[in-house]
Amino acid sequence: MIKLRDIQKSFGDLKVLKGIDLEIHEKEIVSIVGPSGSGKTTLLQIMGTLDKPDQGSIEIKGKKIDGLKDKELAIFRNQEIGFIFQFHQLLPEFTAVENIMMPALIGGLSKSKAQDRAMELLDLLGLKERAEHKPNELSGGEKQRVAVARALINDPAVVLADEPSGSLDTQNKEELHQLFFDLRDQLGQTFVIVTHDEKLAQLTDRTIHLIDGQLNDK
Ligand code: ATP
Repeated sequence: MIKLRDIQKSFGDLKVLKGIDLEIHEKEIVSIVGPSGSGKTTLLQIMGTLDKPDQGSIEIKGKKIDGLKDKELAIFRNQEIGFIFQFHQLLPEFTAVENIMMPALIGGLSKSKAQDRAMELLDLLGLKERAEHKPNELSGGEKQRVAVARALINDPAVVLADEPSGSLDTQNKEELHQLFFDLRDQLGQTFVIVTHDEKLAQLTDRTIHLIDGQLNDK
């Protein structure tokens, strides 16, 4: 599903990724762990085509990303990659259902179809009653589940999550983790999750250790 070959990335003199080779399979749930500053977010950003490597190649769902024009890349990213961040990043002026619809509208889906799909996802995530609430009227766990629905609205092949449960309390954390597995089973997405949470890492199909910009597949 995702193939990375010899990914290298520096910021100025700081060499952050030092030749990453990695293959992630369809419907796998993979966690990326490692010390602070080891390059986890940088790797996830590159995997998500939000940043470009200095060297190396990326293939997602059989498509070579290198060489795509910016507009093609933006369309591909919106269709095939869902993002979940530590802080939900929902737009405060919009309701839950409107936030979820956003990537579908950007992708050209009609408003009524986007709304139907967003409501289906809200239902699936147990949030139907919260559809018309704005983010500040939702609990932390609810906001993060709305962010999950937004990541799924275009039925992407891959969901990339950066510390998705980092701002949640224990119960919400566990519920969110369980949700990833349920969604993989029901919808078939591949998940790559950067986390400091050892419990979550133990649950995932595979844990990748990133240490000082290199993979250590223990
Ligand atoms: P954490 O667990 O603390 O989130 P991380 O493993 O995700 O860390 P990255 O965020 O990938 O680490 O950062 C790796 C290194 O690259 C850090 O030293 C960071 O300061 C540096 N870095 C990241 N992005 C940039 C940037 N845009 N410009 C300059 N340096 C950067």
